[in-house]
Amino acid sequence: MPVSSPRAYAALPLSWAAVVLALTLTPADEMPRTPVWELLSFDTAAHAGVFFVLAGLSWFSLRRQRRWPRLARHAGAAVLAASFLFGALIEVLQLTMRLGRHGEWTDLLSDGLGAALAVGAATAWAGRSSRGRALACLGLVGAAVLGASSAPAQNLPRARATIKKLAAPELHGRGYVKQGEHAAAAYLRERLRALKLAPLAPNYTQPFVLDVNTFPGEVSAAIQSDGTKLATGWRAGTSCIAAPNSGSGTAKGRILLLDTMAFTKAAVQARYLLVPWSKRVLLMRAADAARLPQLPALLQQRLNSAAAFITVVPKLTASLAVEQAPQPRVEVLAEKVPLWLDKAIFGDTATGTAKGHTVWGTVRVGAQLLRNYQTQNLAAVVRGTAQPDSFLVVSAHYDHLGMMGPKAYFPGANDNASGVALLLELAAHYARPENRPACSVVFLLFGAEEAGLVGSNYFVAHPLVPLRNIKFLVNLDLLGTGEQGATVVNGRVFEAPYKRLLALNNAHHYLPALAPRGRAANSDHYPFSEAGVPAFFLYTRGGSPAYHDVNDKPAALSLAGFAGAFGLVRDFLNAEGAAHRAKK
Ligand SMILES: [Zn+2]
Repeated sequence: MPVSSPRAYAALPLSWAAVVLALTLTPADEMPRTPVWELLSFDTAAHAGVFFVLAGLSWFSLRRQRRWPRLARHAGAAVLAASFLFGALIEVLQLTMRLGRHGEWTDLLSDGLGAALAVGAATAWAGRSSRGRALACLGLVGAAVLGASSAPAQNLPRARATIKKLAAPELHGRGYVKQGEHAAAAYLRERLRALKLAPLAPNYTQPFVLDVNTFPGEVSAAIQSDGTKLATGWRAGTSCIAAPNSGSGTAKGRILLLDTMAFTKAAVQARYLLVPWSKRVLLMRAADAARLPQLPALLQQRLNSAAAFITVVPKLTASLAVEQAPQPRVEVLAEKVPLWLDKAIFGDTATGTAKGHTVWGTVRVGAQLLRNYQTQNLAAVVRGTAQPDSFLVVSAHYDHLGMMGPKAYFPGANDNASGVALLLELAAHYARPENRPACSVVFLLFGAEEAGLVGSNYFVAHPLVPLRNIKFLVNLDLLGTGEQGATVVNGRVFEAPYKRLLALNNAHHYLPALAPRGRAANSDHYPFSEAGVPAFFLYTRGGSPAYHDVNDKPAALSLAGFAGAFGLVRDFLNAEGAAHRAKK
């Protein structure tokens, strides 16, 4: 120990190091009260700050001591090395001691920057070297970069990791091809177990079955003009998708456009009745496809016998159906439709020819309608200390759309890996002994939301806690953005709770804005609020527009509103009865 020189003041760095060790290795208290700091850059700033002080004091002591002159001369390097080792020691201890804290190797970067800044500043101040000044600059620049970019780089490391894991290729889009939803559920069970949450059903699992249409085989479409070299192919995921209810098979036929006139002119309708549709590929604009139910029943029936459907859509947005149509059906992205077809087909003619040539279409969809597929909800609880039979519920669906053909899959990072990540952060919060809630807090991870709220409907029909004992449910779906705040579905239905939510947001500036909506069957809160359970559905606004497509990837998410939503939901649940009551 570099002590004993009376003027070295070695006690300063040593006692600071002791304080740091004691603080980092005592079981985690809820970090700070401000949510942005709680999850965002608090760690970065704290680590850098603590090591800045530690390195500064150590440098001061080493330079003043006379026992080891070499050490005094190379104080800077020694302090940097020692800081690095000390930081690594803390992370290793945090990782191994299971204190409710999680070690994070990126923290070492913050530690190093803090130390470099201190040593650089000290050396420069001592008038020693340009190296010192360079080091100080490096530390400053590094700290600035870290500070400015703390959101994407190091914030919410655990939430980001959760989202990345759920959106990874090995979970196959958390759908029914390759049992992606089972893989996701297995991972989430481990997370619940690690948090030591009590299961509400054996192995946290509430099984149920559903019918769902899937696309394990090839999905593609192509067009070709007879007697010319004009040809175009569309690939699954990026330029085309199967329609949710697409049948299986390969169909080839002359392309025939459904002219908009068919909706207004009886003569056009009569002409369409005579078309041999079973040998034709029906081509439609999205707007016309949506109007098909307005056509006379007989014509609808005739169109429904077409060999295949191609619908041109402005954006590829996939979804799930629980039944199959008789023919393969694809949706093609408008911007991938070549100009020659545009001119030939979407011009003023419905003849199906390009410059006098017939256009042929081939549609291939490897669909499989799964019947009685068994999937599951997951359910866990943190029992309340004062009113264990009174429940607050946080819910999020973990399923997504699965695969589109053998290669493409839907990552579903925003929808709804983000909501699951937030649910797990809230679960981690309430699982801590010092945050044990007064009433019970239930965490529900629903399956088969994308197939039509199947999991949440099943739960409401087979509740694992009495529905009338649920004081409030907060459903989290699409929490990966937040630049423009969040929308609260049912905010106009449950006005008093919404006022309380709004007041919390205004007081703490959690999210830039909240907007209330009426009732809407757009996520898992709906079966609950229809059954009389007060419920909000919270989703963030702004940022990435990817939705139900192959671009809904973790990297596209800013998580701009994640920390704010965490603070807001936590405070709201606390105000509704989850507030910890200290035993006195
Ligand atoms: Zn969705």
